[in-house]
Amino acid sequence: MNPKSLRFQLMAWYGTLLVIAFLIFSASIYFTLEHFLRQNIATALLNRATQISDNVLADYKGHSLDWLKFEVDSRHAPQNSGRFIRIIKNGSEILYVSEAPKDESFDPASIPLQPLNPHVPIRIVSSNKDQLLIRTFYTLMDGATLTVEVGRSIVPIQETMRGIVLSLIVSGPLVIGVAVFGAYILVGRALSPVDRIIASAERITLEHLANRLPVPATGDELERLSNALNRMIERIDLAFKTDKRFIADASHELRTPIAIIRAELEALGGSKALHDSTRERVGSILEEVQRLGRTVEALFAIARLDAGEAQSEWKSIDLSKLVELTTDQMCLLAEDKMLTVETDLPEGVFIIGDQQRLKQIIVNLLDNAIKYTPEGGKIRISVAAMLFDAVLQISDTGIGIPVECRDRVFDRFYRVDSAKNMNEGGAGLGLSIVKSICTAHYAKISVSSHLEAGCCFKVAFPLHTEKK
Ligand code: ADP
Repeated sequence: MNPKSLRFQLMAWYGTLLVIAFLIFSASIYFTLEHFLRQNIATALLNRATQISDNVLADYKGHSLDWLKFEVDSRHAPQNSGRFIRIIKNGSEILYVSEAPKDESFDPASIPLQPLNPHVPIRIVSSNKDQLLIRTFYTLMDGATLTVEVGRSIVPIQETMRGIVLSLIVSGPLVIGVAVFGAYILVGRALSPVDRIIASAERITLEHLANRLPVPATGDELERLSNALNRMIERIDLAFKTDKRFIADASHELRTPIAIIRAELEALGGSKALHDSTRERVGSILEEVQRLGRTVEALFAIARLDAGEAQSEWKSIDLSKLVELTTDQMCLLAEDKMLTVETDLPEGVFIIGDQQRLKQIIVNLLDNAIKYTPEGGKIRISVAAMLFDAVLQISDTGIGIPVECRDRVFDRFYRVDSAKNMNEGGAGLGLSIVKSICTAHYAKISVSSHLEAGCCFKVAFPLHTEKK
């Protein structure tokens, strides 16, 4: 699980808030219930103290302490009910105190006297292994203040509270766990369109600008985001198409005048009336015009390929045979530079495509290998059938391409400085054409190279298994 993912962070926040909410809820339940139970006991004790005052102390006048003890014991049986009762005169003279309960959980004699204070009617006192809640009630008799104290153990309340804490400790993590798990599933479901949008966005490249992102029909922010991104892709697509159309139109419009200028210059160069120096100058202008013509042709070819020219010419092609044929046609160029050309072309490696275009890939790559390999070097051309690919590799022992330039050699008009210095090559459009043809044929091209260690161009075409 990725801790930076939206899903994880939402869950972390949700889990934390849930724990805080549960702790607040548990604390409020605990304190409210404890207060309520104590209050209940205090009210019952006050009732009993009032009864003692009304029923016993009201008749006490003129009777002995034994009478008082007998009356309280027989009416309220504190020893049997585990209650504490004490009657005090003027805050210090004890008239009656109940005996210890049968289980001797507390000792009434050890409970200290409290100064007269009607503002503190309830107190908690520890005695032996028990804790007592004592309710104090004051009454006046013949000018003396009688204090009636009635107490009861609060151990049952403490046990109830312990039970509640235990059940909260057990149920809390369980409830939070189920809630977080449920939310994890729901958040995952809510965010699943995001994964689909990311996958589609990854597939949209400059070559596939016609594709669009999936739009989840959820009516939420994700739907709005997908729509907004699709509109943006549409605008980029339009801008690119306009750009490509401009290049196609411009190069198309330039072809005819260049062809006319070239024909005129050729005719002029052949004229005997020209002075030698003028003929030389016409020749050099003709060379430049031919170079310009090649650049315009290359631009036109790229524009057509980028526009996705019709695939009507596509058929099954024996890649090894095509490579063999093209190499034979170009071997004179290699021989001129005394280059050794090695081939490894097994039979039966078929691909689908436009023969002329595919041939252009081989021509351009081989032409570069010859151009950029110094005399006496070696060029190796191989074709191999891999699992799903037909792989063409053209490697040489030439000047190589610096690592930092490798990704850029397929850009239009890009030329490495070392190549420029050699005064070889054209306008830097050959590999752009190769790249465009590869894209049109669903092939992947890559280059591995080091400066002055030669380089290897690798083209992986989808393998065509059925021969036609
Ligand atoms: P160019 O017409 O200049 O050869 P390309 O598009 O065919 O244009 O190649 C672009 C650049 O890539 C070249 O200028 C050169 O720097 C480099 N390059 C291409 N092939 C090779 C190779 N086989 N060896 C060394 N450099 C190469």
